[in-house]
Amino acid sequence: MGVLDVVPAGVLTGDNVRKLFEYAKEHQFAIPAINVTSSSVANAVLEAARDVKSPIIIQVSQGGAAYFAGKGLANDKQQASITGAIAAAHHVRLVAKSYGVPVVMHSDHCAQKLLPWFDGMLKADEEYFAQHQEPLFSSHMLDLSEEPKEENIETCAKYFKRMAPLGLWLEMEIGITGGEEDGVDNTDVDNAKLYTQPEDIWEVYSALSKISPNFSIAAAFGNVHGVYKPGNVKLHPELLNKHQVHAEQKLGKKKPLFLVFHGGSGSTKDEIKTAVQNGVVKMNVDTDTQFAYLAGIRDFVQNKAGYLQTQVGNPEGADKPNKKYYDPRVWVREGEKTLSTRVKEACTDLGNVDRL
Ligand SMILES: [Zn+2]
Repeated sequence: MGVLDVVPAGVLTGDNVRKLFEYAKEHQFAIPAINVTSSSVANAVLEAARDVKSPIIIQVSQGGAAYFAGKGLANDKQQASITGAIAAAHHVRLVAKSYGVPVVMHSDHCAQKLLPWFDGMLKADEEYFAQHQEPLFSSHMLDLSEEPKEENIETCAKYFKRMAPLGLWLEMEIGITGGEEDGVDNTDVDNAKLYTQPEDIWEVYSALSKISPNFSIAAAFGNVHGVYKPGNVKLHPELLNKHQVHAEQKLGKKKPLFLVFHGGSGSTKDEIKTAVQNGVVKMNVDTDTQFAYLAGIRDFVQNKAGYLQTQVGNPEGADKPNKKYYDPRVWVREGEKTLSTRVKEACTDLGNVDRL
């Protein structure tokens, strides 16, 4: 029995999201969540998922969403981030079915100061729900990990009460992911906060499970956004097992938590394996796929430099046309290919291969 026996192809919502994550947890694999900034990136991610015959998570960050709508748009009230996230969700909804894979359409980190972005997406979910009896997105992340714990949990619960009836999944963060992403700089954060405690996770679980079972927790276990030199980061994915055991003792149910791994770029295969064994069902990959998208384009531009200086005239002759080199369908495609290869690698690392 594969994933398609449990959930359909296309963007998933409601209990189907939980069924997918339950399936992943039960079969000990996790699904990579890839940040996208354009339809080109989104299509390349879907292509990779189709090729490895597995589900995929597509996500937009606040900055990535604004870019999706266009860098030329004003974003002082999060209007471009709202529009771009909605555009990305509609695009993915339309094409995902053609690729034949289940997709979780997710929005990434939303800190306190970005809540107007969250409100805008939630409004779009409610409008979509009124017409289609399901939300536009599959899932959203609220990241109030910089706020006091009580406030973090309270705000998550408040939003979750509004999200749950629509069939939206909530991902929340407790403890702090180090590093820097989308303008939130946690490079100087106190070390203790980089490791979430089992009691904190239990507090979150108790508050949110009263509302709906459809949520996941991004716990900090020394993970960092971005790629750092090996040795600079002490990742402890084995700590995640403590959270599961602590919750297990309270509930009498094996591995009850759905956990999320932020800052997956640059991790070793062993660290990833341990995280998955401890109930990680989603791992974010952004930095490595950004670099992969560049690599194909960079190599093409370097290797074909003689064909890219003028529209006519190249090393083969002064009157030779260069259209087949400067057409974006040629050089952007090279970035899509190397990105797609990197996504497949992430799928392999997480065991997300041949799962349909
Ligand atoms: Zn993150």
